[in-house]
Amino acid sequence: MYYPEPIAKLIESYSKLPGIGQKTATRLAFYTIGMEDEDVNLFAKNLLSAKRDLKFCSICGNLTDEDPCNICTDESRDRSTIFVVEDSKDVLAIEKIREYNGLYHVLQGTISPMNGVSPDDINVKSLITRLMDSQVEEVIIATNATSEGEATAIYLSRLIKPSGIKVTRLARGLAVGSDIEYADEVTLLKAVENRKEI
Ligand SMILES: [Zn+2]
Repeated sequence: MYYPEPIAKLIESYSKLPGIGQKTATRLAFYTIGMEDEDVNLFAKNLLSAKRDLKFCSICGNLTDEDPCNICTDESRDRSTIFVVEDSKDVLAIEKIREYNGLYHVLQGTISPMNGVSPDDINVKSLITRLMDSQVEEVIIATNATSEGEATAIYLSRLIKPSGIKVTRLARGLAVGSDIEYADEVTLLKAVENRKEI
């Protein structure tokens, strides 16, 4: 079916989003065209601003509009614990259970030799730098329960343990292959409480 170029381009943009097929992209594109000018302008502005104004925190690697992020600068947080996660969405998931008051470190990925991702390609170096700070007593590794997440946890554990810092891993309440960000709050809370030293 032929569409005028502007709408074809809009469909193409929507179809690049995760979980959006051609059919949904077409529906969204036509919906957008029917929106008020004001709403479309705001939508475009928000897209640009999210991309332009967000950066990675230079300390923890979390997505933020201020560097360092508001977790790293929060003096009321416990500086003896660092919770290591794969991405910023996991930080939100853990913050939601309101049980953890320490710091975070966002890896922005996992080690995956199969896909050519080495420790140097993810945010590991800055974690090691942070651990030189003697305040840190425990590193909780909360990478996802996937083979890459496991491999990353083992790699980090071997790297950190010689320093004498306690390394723990979330309990196996989380199903194998599951993502932290999709776990329900009770499961997540249990996984944090029952974390095991590795
Ligand atoms: Zn930060």
